[in-house]
Amino acid sequence: MLPVERQQQLLSWLEEEGTLRVSEISSRLEVSEMTIYRDIKPLIEENKITKTSKGIAIASTAPAIAANRCTYCFKTVETRHNVHLIMNDQSVEQACCAHCGLLRYEAVSDRVSQIICTDFLLGTTISAKTAVYLMDSEIDIQCCKPQLLAFDSKDRALRFQKGFGGELYSFNEVIRVLSQNMNEVCCSKQTK
Ligand SMILES: [Zn+2]
Ligand SMILES: [Zn+2]
Repeated sequence: MLPVERQQQLLSWLEEEGTLRVSEISSRLEVSEMTIYRDIKPLIEENKITKTSKGIAIASTAPAIAANRCTYCFKTVETRHNVHLIMNDQSVEQACCAHCGLLRYEAVSDRVSQIICTDFLLGTTISAKTAVYLMDSEIDIQCCKPQLLAFDSKDRALRFQKGFGGELYSFNEVIRVLSQNMNEVCCSKQTK
């Protein structure tokens, strides 16, 4: 078998079977593991396959990209302000900021078992339902508008509001205000 034939064979196995160990491939093809490593090197370089803890598998770049995108506006998510929605089927969606997280929640709330956001001052994860939200303060986090900052303590939110302005809302209030607002401004349209 030529290297290119082995590569073809390998790719079709991986497509059918998912992950394979190098030792398994080498015994099936009756060549040394060294040869397999030489065969897969260019495939890895071309991003066709990837090494995993269980062996090698077809590289799927798509889910990795999707996983790092906001479920609402599709912007790349930076962890600092992100929101996680844990769905009833245990899958997880993430949003770039409280703005998108809450709007997404509003759209799919019957499928959400938990919604978790990040405290703006402390960076800790907090339950979105008990958080306090400050809308449109002077601090610009460069994400979606109207901007929402989440705080786990009303006291700290109030003190922050004194310095930087904005309106304070509870979870339910802010969802109502946001969905009214979305008829006028849409974060996805501002995204480049
Ligand atoms: Zn977003
Ligand atoms: Zn955002």
